[in-house]
Amino acid sequence: MSYPARHSVPPSRTPPGAQPRRAARQPRAVPPARWPGPPQQGLWPGHPSGPLPATPAAPAAPSRLPPRPVHPSGPLPAVTPAPAAGRRTGPTRHTDRLVMPGIVLTVIALGALAVMALWWRSTPRGSDAGGLLTAAGDALGLLAGYGVVMLVALMARLPPLERGIGADRLARWHATGGRYVITFVSGHVVLIVWGLAVTAHEKVTSETVTLLTSYPDVLMATVAWFLLLGVAAFSARAARRRLSYETWYYAHLYTYLAIALAFSHQFADGPAFASNFPARVAWSALYATVGTLVVWYRILTPLLHAARHRFTVRNVRLEAPGVVSVFITGRDFGRLRAEPGQFFRWRFLTRELCWQSHPYSLSAMPQPDLMRITVKVRGDHSDSLARLEPGTRVIAEGPYGAFTPSVSSRRVLLIAGGVGITPIRAMFAALPRRMSDGITLLYRASHPRDVVFSRELEAIASDRNAALHFLIGSREELGYDPLASRHLQRMVPGLHRYEAYVCGPPGMTETALESLRAAGIARRHIHRESFDL
Ligand SMILES: Cc1cc2nc3c(=O)[nH]c(=O)nc-3n(C[C@H](O)[C@H](O)[C@H](O)COP(=O)(O)OP(=O)(O)OC[C@H]3O[C@@H](n4cnc5c(N)ncnc54)[C@H](O)[C@@H]3O)c2cc1C
Repeated sequence: MSYPARHSVPPSRTPPGAQPRRAARQPRAVPPARWPGPPQQGLWPGHPSGPLPATPAAPAAPSRLPPRPVHPSGPLPAVTPAPAAGRRTGPTRHTDRLVMPGIVLTVIALGALAVMALWWRSTPRGSDAGGLLTAAGDALGLLAGYGVVMLVALMARLPPLERGIGADRLARWHATGGRYVITFVSGHVVLIVWGLAVTAHEKVTSETVTLLTSYPDVLMATVAWFLLLGVAAFSARAARRRLSYETWYYAHLYTYLAIALAFSHQFADGPAFASNFPARVAWSALYATVGTLVVWYRILTPLLHAARHRFTVRNVRLEAPGVVSVFITGRDFGRLRAEPGQFFRWRFLTRELCWQSHPYSLSAMPQPDLMRITVKVRGDHSDSLARLEPGTRVIAEGPYGAFTPSVSSRRVLLIAGGVGITPIRAMFAALPRRMSDGITLLYRASHPRDVVFSRELEAIASDRNAALHFLIGSREELGYDPLASRHLQRMVPGLHRYEAYVCGPPGMTETALESLRAAGIARRHIHRESFDL
């Protein structure tokens, strides 16, 4: 199969009306002088490794791409910076990402089986209705106690999970698992009260009072149940839409309090642990291990990284209206072992922003002492990044994410929409040169002014002999969707032979995924990054 020569787009393959490629090179509209000037010598000024290779000249601009705001001191060099010594920055092995979710789900399922075995061996299951109800309640309680600690473990930011499964998938598992846990806890409460009431020939109300007042630690566990119900209510889709992310997030932290409050009643009242010392030790060890992992990876590691790498804002640069790049300096970034396509959670230590950490992808692979993120204004946090002062200290948590290129013999198709170009840009530049002949990047934007990095992309495409298509214009303007199956297959012949990576707004992503599947690409060869966790 033949590829478009370099990054040109043969007219026959360009959907009618689509704006193929080519960035404006010539006219420069200077942005307001609100931001500190970027490096004079491109992205990595005065860098010990010296200036990067000169970028190839960008070709003439297409007629419909208007001049974009470009900083007076010139464009960024685009070509992949040299990776820091001794670290792996290239593609991940494909199998890592295929097997890790299966391994983790199997381990969780085996743990649940072990919990059920413990229940089976230690819980009396009388033949009367009361005994059966109580035993069923005990089983649900044990599963809830196990499930809640697994939910926390999934969110503990464990590097193997973050890299092998991905934050978005972990968040989905966490949300689904959360629904099970809240159902198990509620079922546990109802069945235990009901079963004990039946056995004692009491009314449910008076048995509830007895449980709360005479059983050890049940009152605390009841408070924990209400806290969990509150967290679940805050997380329900309808509520989530109305709440700010921060409100939802801080409400979620009450889960930790709920776990602490409910812990002791398991040993005090649960038959599975009453006379089983090894079980108590194993259960405590499970909770203690997960607690330690949370403290280590969510609190201590970011602080250690901040001390070691001294992340500091260098400058902020306007890329397009409402889109800025933040350059972060520091030291020894090679030890972070970031891969193209990954993201960090960034906490900028200003009075206004230090309470929040937000995920932003690297828009270029780090140099040993310089990183770049590129952010589109979406709300308060992203908006305030344009006003960051040079010298602002930063805590960067990561790198995270499984949206990284994998080693395979397949050709690579990168599809970006809007600010979804950020991880794709990093990947595009970092793919091994030997793959160059098989790399195609499709960059979808509704309007030419939304296009960022056009020069960098041109330069990378040129340097690597890769195909680059800008697909500009709203569907209404174009009269069709350039990512719809028919158009995509025309633009990228032999589509089924590609490994595809998609990052963009939800609607665009869904269309692209459908088209890729329709073209015959197996799900395991399609990768997506979602900017909504
Ligand atoms: C893995 C990942 C990588 C991302 N990379 C980029 C990038 O390179 N460039 C870019 O412009 N945007 C990126 N985003 C999106 C970016 O994180 C959100 O746009 C930003 O956090 C919005 O915050 P806000 O206060 O400006 O807006 P808000 O109005 O507060 O939030 C808008 C939406 O963003 C999401 N969001 C808000 N805060 C957070 C948070 N702390 N964590 C997770 N989601 C949150 C919520 O879904 C919310 O509905 C990425 C998101 C994810 C999950």
